[in-house]
Amino acid sequence: MKKYIMALDAGTTSNRCILFDKKGQICSVSQREFAQIYPHSGWVEHDPYEIFNVMLGVARDAMQKIGAGPDDIASIGITNQRETTVVWNKNTSQPVYNAIVWQCRRTSQECSELEKQGWSEVIQQKTGLKLDPYFSATKVKWILDHVEGAREKAENGELLMGTIETWIIWKLTGGKVHITDYTNASRTMLFNIYDLKWDKDLLDLFKIPETMLPQVKGCSEVYGYTNPEFFGKEIAIAGAAGDQQSALFGQQCFKPGMVKNTYGTGGFLLMNTGSKPISSANGLVTTIGWSINGEITYALEGSVMIAGAVIQWLRDELHLIDSAADTEYLASKVPDTNGAYLVPAFTGLGAPYWNPYARGVFIGLSRGVNKNHMVRAALESMAFQANDVIRAMCADSGIEINTIRIDGGASANNLLAQMQADFSNISVVRPACVETTALGAAYLAGLAVGFWDSIENICENTQEDVIFTPLMDHDERERKLTEWKKAVSCANYLTTL
Ligand code: ADP
Repeated sequence: MKKYIMALDAGTTSNRCILFDKKGQICSVSQREFAQIYPHSGWVEHDPYEIFNVMLGVARDAMQKIGAGPDDIASIGITNQRETTVVWNKNTSQPVYNAIVWQCRRTSQECSELEKQGWSEVIQQKTGLKLDPYFSATKVKWILDHVEGAREKAENGELLMGTIETWIIWKLTGGKVHITDYTNASRTMLFNIYDLKWDKDLLDLFKIPETMLPQVKGCSEVYGYTNPEFFGKEIAIAGAAGDQQSALFGQQCFKPGMVKNTYGTGGFLLMNTGSKPISSANGLVTTIGWSINGEITYALEGSVMIAGAVIQWLRDELHLIDSAADTEYLASKVPDTNGAYLVPAFTGLGAPYWNPYARGVFIGLSRGVNKNHMVRAALESMAFQANDVIRAMCADSGIEINTIRIDGGASANNLLAQMQADFSNISVVRPACVETTALGAAYLAGLAVGFWDSIENICENTQEDVIFTPLMDHDERERKLTEWKKAVSCANYLTTL
């Protein structure tokens, strides 16, 4: 009798393994960080070997902690930091270069040039994405252009590429399986999300031989089996999805119009838009939410660059707080921000503004503004920014959003959740299990092997949520949103000075 699903969560700074039981409860967790490599300013890399070894280590550790053997594991689901790219030799499995991480800006110049040549629109029409170094395409090209002999080998069919789930699956299966899933493929800027194929024009544009690319599979099916050397016996690998899509699934946003926001360092909002892709006119990207049994569910996505990071700034730079959790208590000591607004555009503004040159502003300061007001303004800034994305989602989709489901480290903050409900005038739901990224991968892998029979079966297991309903009156909300907009224009205005 299989007792658990193993979720492998390959994050940006650490890898985690969580074993879930049939009720979706966490039975064991193991987590370990790995090195961040910064060879130059703005460049970020990871060692692919380290990523795999750390993952294997935490998987074994999570099993050992509760005495689980390979026979107890029904299947493995993988979720991962998206866009990060590895290129390796097909015959030796040796990476030809470190993994180039999603945050890495080394291909900015190349993207600017392509933009000048007018490629932005074509790329958006094919991939749903904005032309940006963030996505995998220019990272692969960089490796082929800069690693000696790489292009020649790639053209001879000797090299393979993959995002992190592809690399982990390749290694776990002992080099037998080279696949990706639709969600990860949709973040490469090489995949046509309408034709559901690698796009020949884009492969030509980036000079990437098609033989390097993994086969694209659904998010919930058996891809292959682990090499017995790893866990003593074969275990089915049966699910994969990029981290944000996995969280959308783990949050059970199964119906069109359902939205989740992950309040981590940044804020990641995704909306299920059903079987039709919606092209954004409001600064969002169109992406694949998941694919199950051959059916694609699309999503709209908007990222807020600084969310929980603003709280870190209060703690580490301003020394206003000792820990992130203090913000709830301090901000609750005052009824409002006393007219202050903070726009934490520390690295520019993301969706829906897209101004990389914007910078932060703290406005509306009077002699009476104290530390508690400032902390409150920081929490409000997280909710305001998320609300801007929610409004863009409504405008693009024409769907009225009535609930937003939250997770991530800062979702523990009740005051923030209430602010979100108040500013957006919608209910905010926090599930009992906020490990939604790993849970999504577990659900996908569990559905593939009959551990759960159906999506309905998954929903039956859900434990009680906490619900925050809007309490702010209409005029107050409109006043605050208008003032917030003014503050955002100040952050944008700075770039014109
Ligand atoms: P990531 O996955 O991006 O590392 P996490 O989901 O672990 O992020 O969330 C950590 C972030 O949440 C940090 O930026 C931290 O400042 C913020 N955070 C954590 N707890 C709270 C809290 N109680 N209130 C507000 N922010 C918080």
